[in-house]
Amino acid sequence: MKSKRESNTRFRLVLTLGLAVVLPALTLIFVNFQHVKSIQRDKKVEALIHRDFQYVLSISAKKLAGKAFAMTEKAREGFPSENDSDDEKRRKLDQIVSNNPAFTHVFLFDAKKGIVVQPQRATMSEKEAGDMGKMYSTWFGLEGPYLCEQLRKKSKPIMWYAGESDRPSGTAYVTTAIFSFPDLYRDRAVLGGVSFDPKYLKQTFFPELLEEVTSQTFTSDPEQLSAQGFHELMPTEVIEHPDQRLAMIVYPADALKSEPDRPLATTAGWGGGKPEVSYKLDDPFRGLALGIKFQGTTAEAISRRWVWQSFLILGVLSVLMIGGLVLTYRSVNKQVALARLKSDFVSNVSHELRTPLALIRLYAETLELGRITTQEKKNEYYSIIRKESERLSALINNILDFSRIEAGAKEYDFRETDIAELVRNTLDSYRYQIEQQGFALEEHIDSGIPSVKVDREAIARALVNLVNNALKYSGNEKFLAVRLYREQSVLKLEVSDRGIGIERHEQSRIFEKFYRTCDPLVHNTKGSGLGLSLVRHITRAHGGDVEVESTPGRGSKFTLSLPLATPST
Ligand code: ADP
Repeated sequence: MKSKRESNTRFRLVLTLGLAVVLPALTLIFVNFQHVKSIQRDKKVEALIHRDFQYVLSISAKKLAGKAFAMTEKAREGFPSENDSDDEKRRKLDQIVSNNPAFTHVFLFDAKKGIVVQPQRATMSEKEAGDMGKMYSTWFGLEGPYLCEQLRKKSKPIMWYAGESDRPSGTAYVTTAIFSFPDLYRDRAVLGGVSFDPKYLKQTFFPELLEEVTSQTFTSDPEQLSAQGFHELMPTEVIEHPDQRLAMIVYPADALKSEPDRPLATTAGWGGGKPEVSYKLDDPFRGLALGIKFQGTTAEAISRRWVWQSFLILGVLSVLMIGGLVLTYRSVNKQVALARLKSDFVSNVSHELRTPLALIRLYAETLELGRITTQEKKNEYYSIIRKESERLSALINNILDFSRIEAGAKEYDFRETDIAELVRNTLDSYRYQIEQQGFALEEHIDSGIPSVKVDREAIARALVNLVNNALKYSGNEKFLAVRLYREQSVLKLEVSDRGIGIERHEQSRIFEKFYRTCDPLVHNTKGSGLGLSLVRHITRAHGGDVEVESTPGRGSKFTLSLPLATPST
């Protein structure tokens, strides 16, 4: 019966565990769970990724513009001045074009001297240049002074005209820079310009820059990043996914919805589809947009994976916590039970010691008084004294053995032994007691059992323990059978009874130290709960094991298996 104190201990333990460990841990897990849920609900991961994408796109747009401006400014620096002769002007313009395959043509408009258009010979015919010249003349003739006025107001005297334009090869996106020379020509409208080759933009300019941006973006090395000018702009979240490669696209901003498949340029891993985030470009590439996405995945998929992983981690944590809790509870339970068993043991053992001692004393005193006259009676008393002292020494031996085993100091003395004879002798010394208690003893010892190396005393003690148990735990069916036989290379020693038996769930536990079953007969019978744990220790030390087969109410059979091969000492 479990005492009230035990339930109190258990309750206190559960309370402590609950308050100190489970409650905080559960709160943490719950808060995290809610947090992940809110991230999932508000699509925060996607938002972060999209914010990162915006960064990358704005950097790319700056780079694109910066490069186009730089090329244009360089060309502008090479433009002829007022004092140059006509030939010199042509030569200088020609030089700009031939040095720069990015331009289809450059031009110089002078309100006084007219227009000069210098084509890139490989990509623009004289005729087309002539047509362009006419167009510029008309345009600047009308708007030249106004444009110059506008350009003067700007920090950089460059403006851009961009859009679809008809070229002999078809309609293409063209961007043209128009600039003035405020330091060179003050008195009249003089405008210069360079027009970017659509083919060059498409095949070289955009692809190169996009590749450069996408390959740079995913380096996680901060030094490299800052060397590339990404230090402050580089959002940390993108860097944290170094395995996710980016893909970028440049496309006509208005055409995207109707013609998403006609990009101007894409990076190698684009693979079709729409961008996740897009960014409309300003001068010099007005009318175009930049788009970005992950290669082979989407922000949504990454978010989903992240949320899933977070839930999984929280789940595993919860399971681990519950598992740990159950284990702790069980182990404490075990300790509490062990403590109970120990205290039972102490009271059982003291009782066990007291009873034989009292009997011995009683019979010895009676004999001493000399009142017993018949020899028969005397013999009976002597035998009682002997039996009780034997019981006493068996108990003390068990306790001593047990304490040696607990201290790890139990040693066995293995010697070549005729085990059949050992079993017979042990039974003989108990036969009287067995028969006295009204038990029928069946003894089957096979002939030809080879001798084995065993610790004689230990094996005898194991047998005595099993026989004693059979005597103790039998009701009206007083039957005891001991069998010794060989089964291949294993020697089997069986002790069976037709006693109270053992419930299935208790069969493995009876070999634990101090363990006693819940049967009322067991409670009324004194015992220490040590016998079977000793039996198991002894057989295992011999390289064997002990098993029980039992049916409650029908009896039990304990079988020791000892290998015939010599155990290592
Ligand atoms: P003890 O007999 O001193 O209580 P043991 O270790 O020898 O300790 O046995 C442990 C328990 O196993 C016993 O208390 C009893 O409940 C059960 N048991 C052992 N042998 C038998 C048996 N032959 N029949 C029924 N129950 C048994």
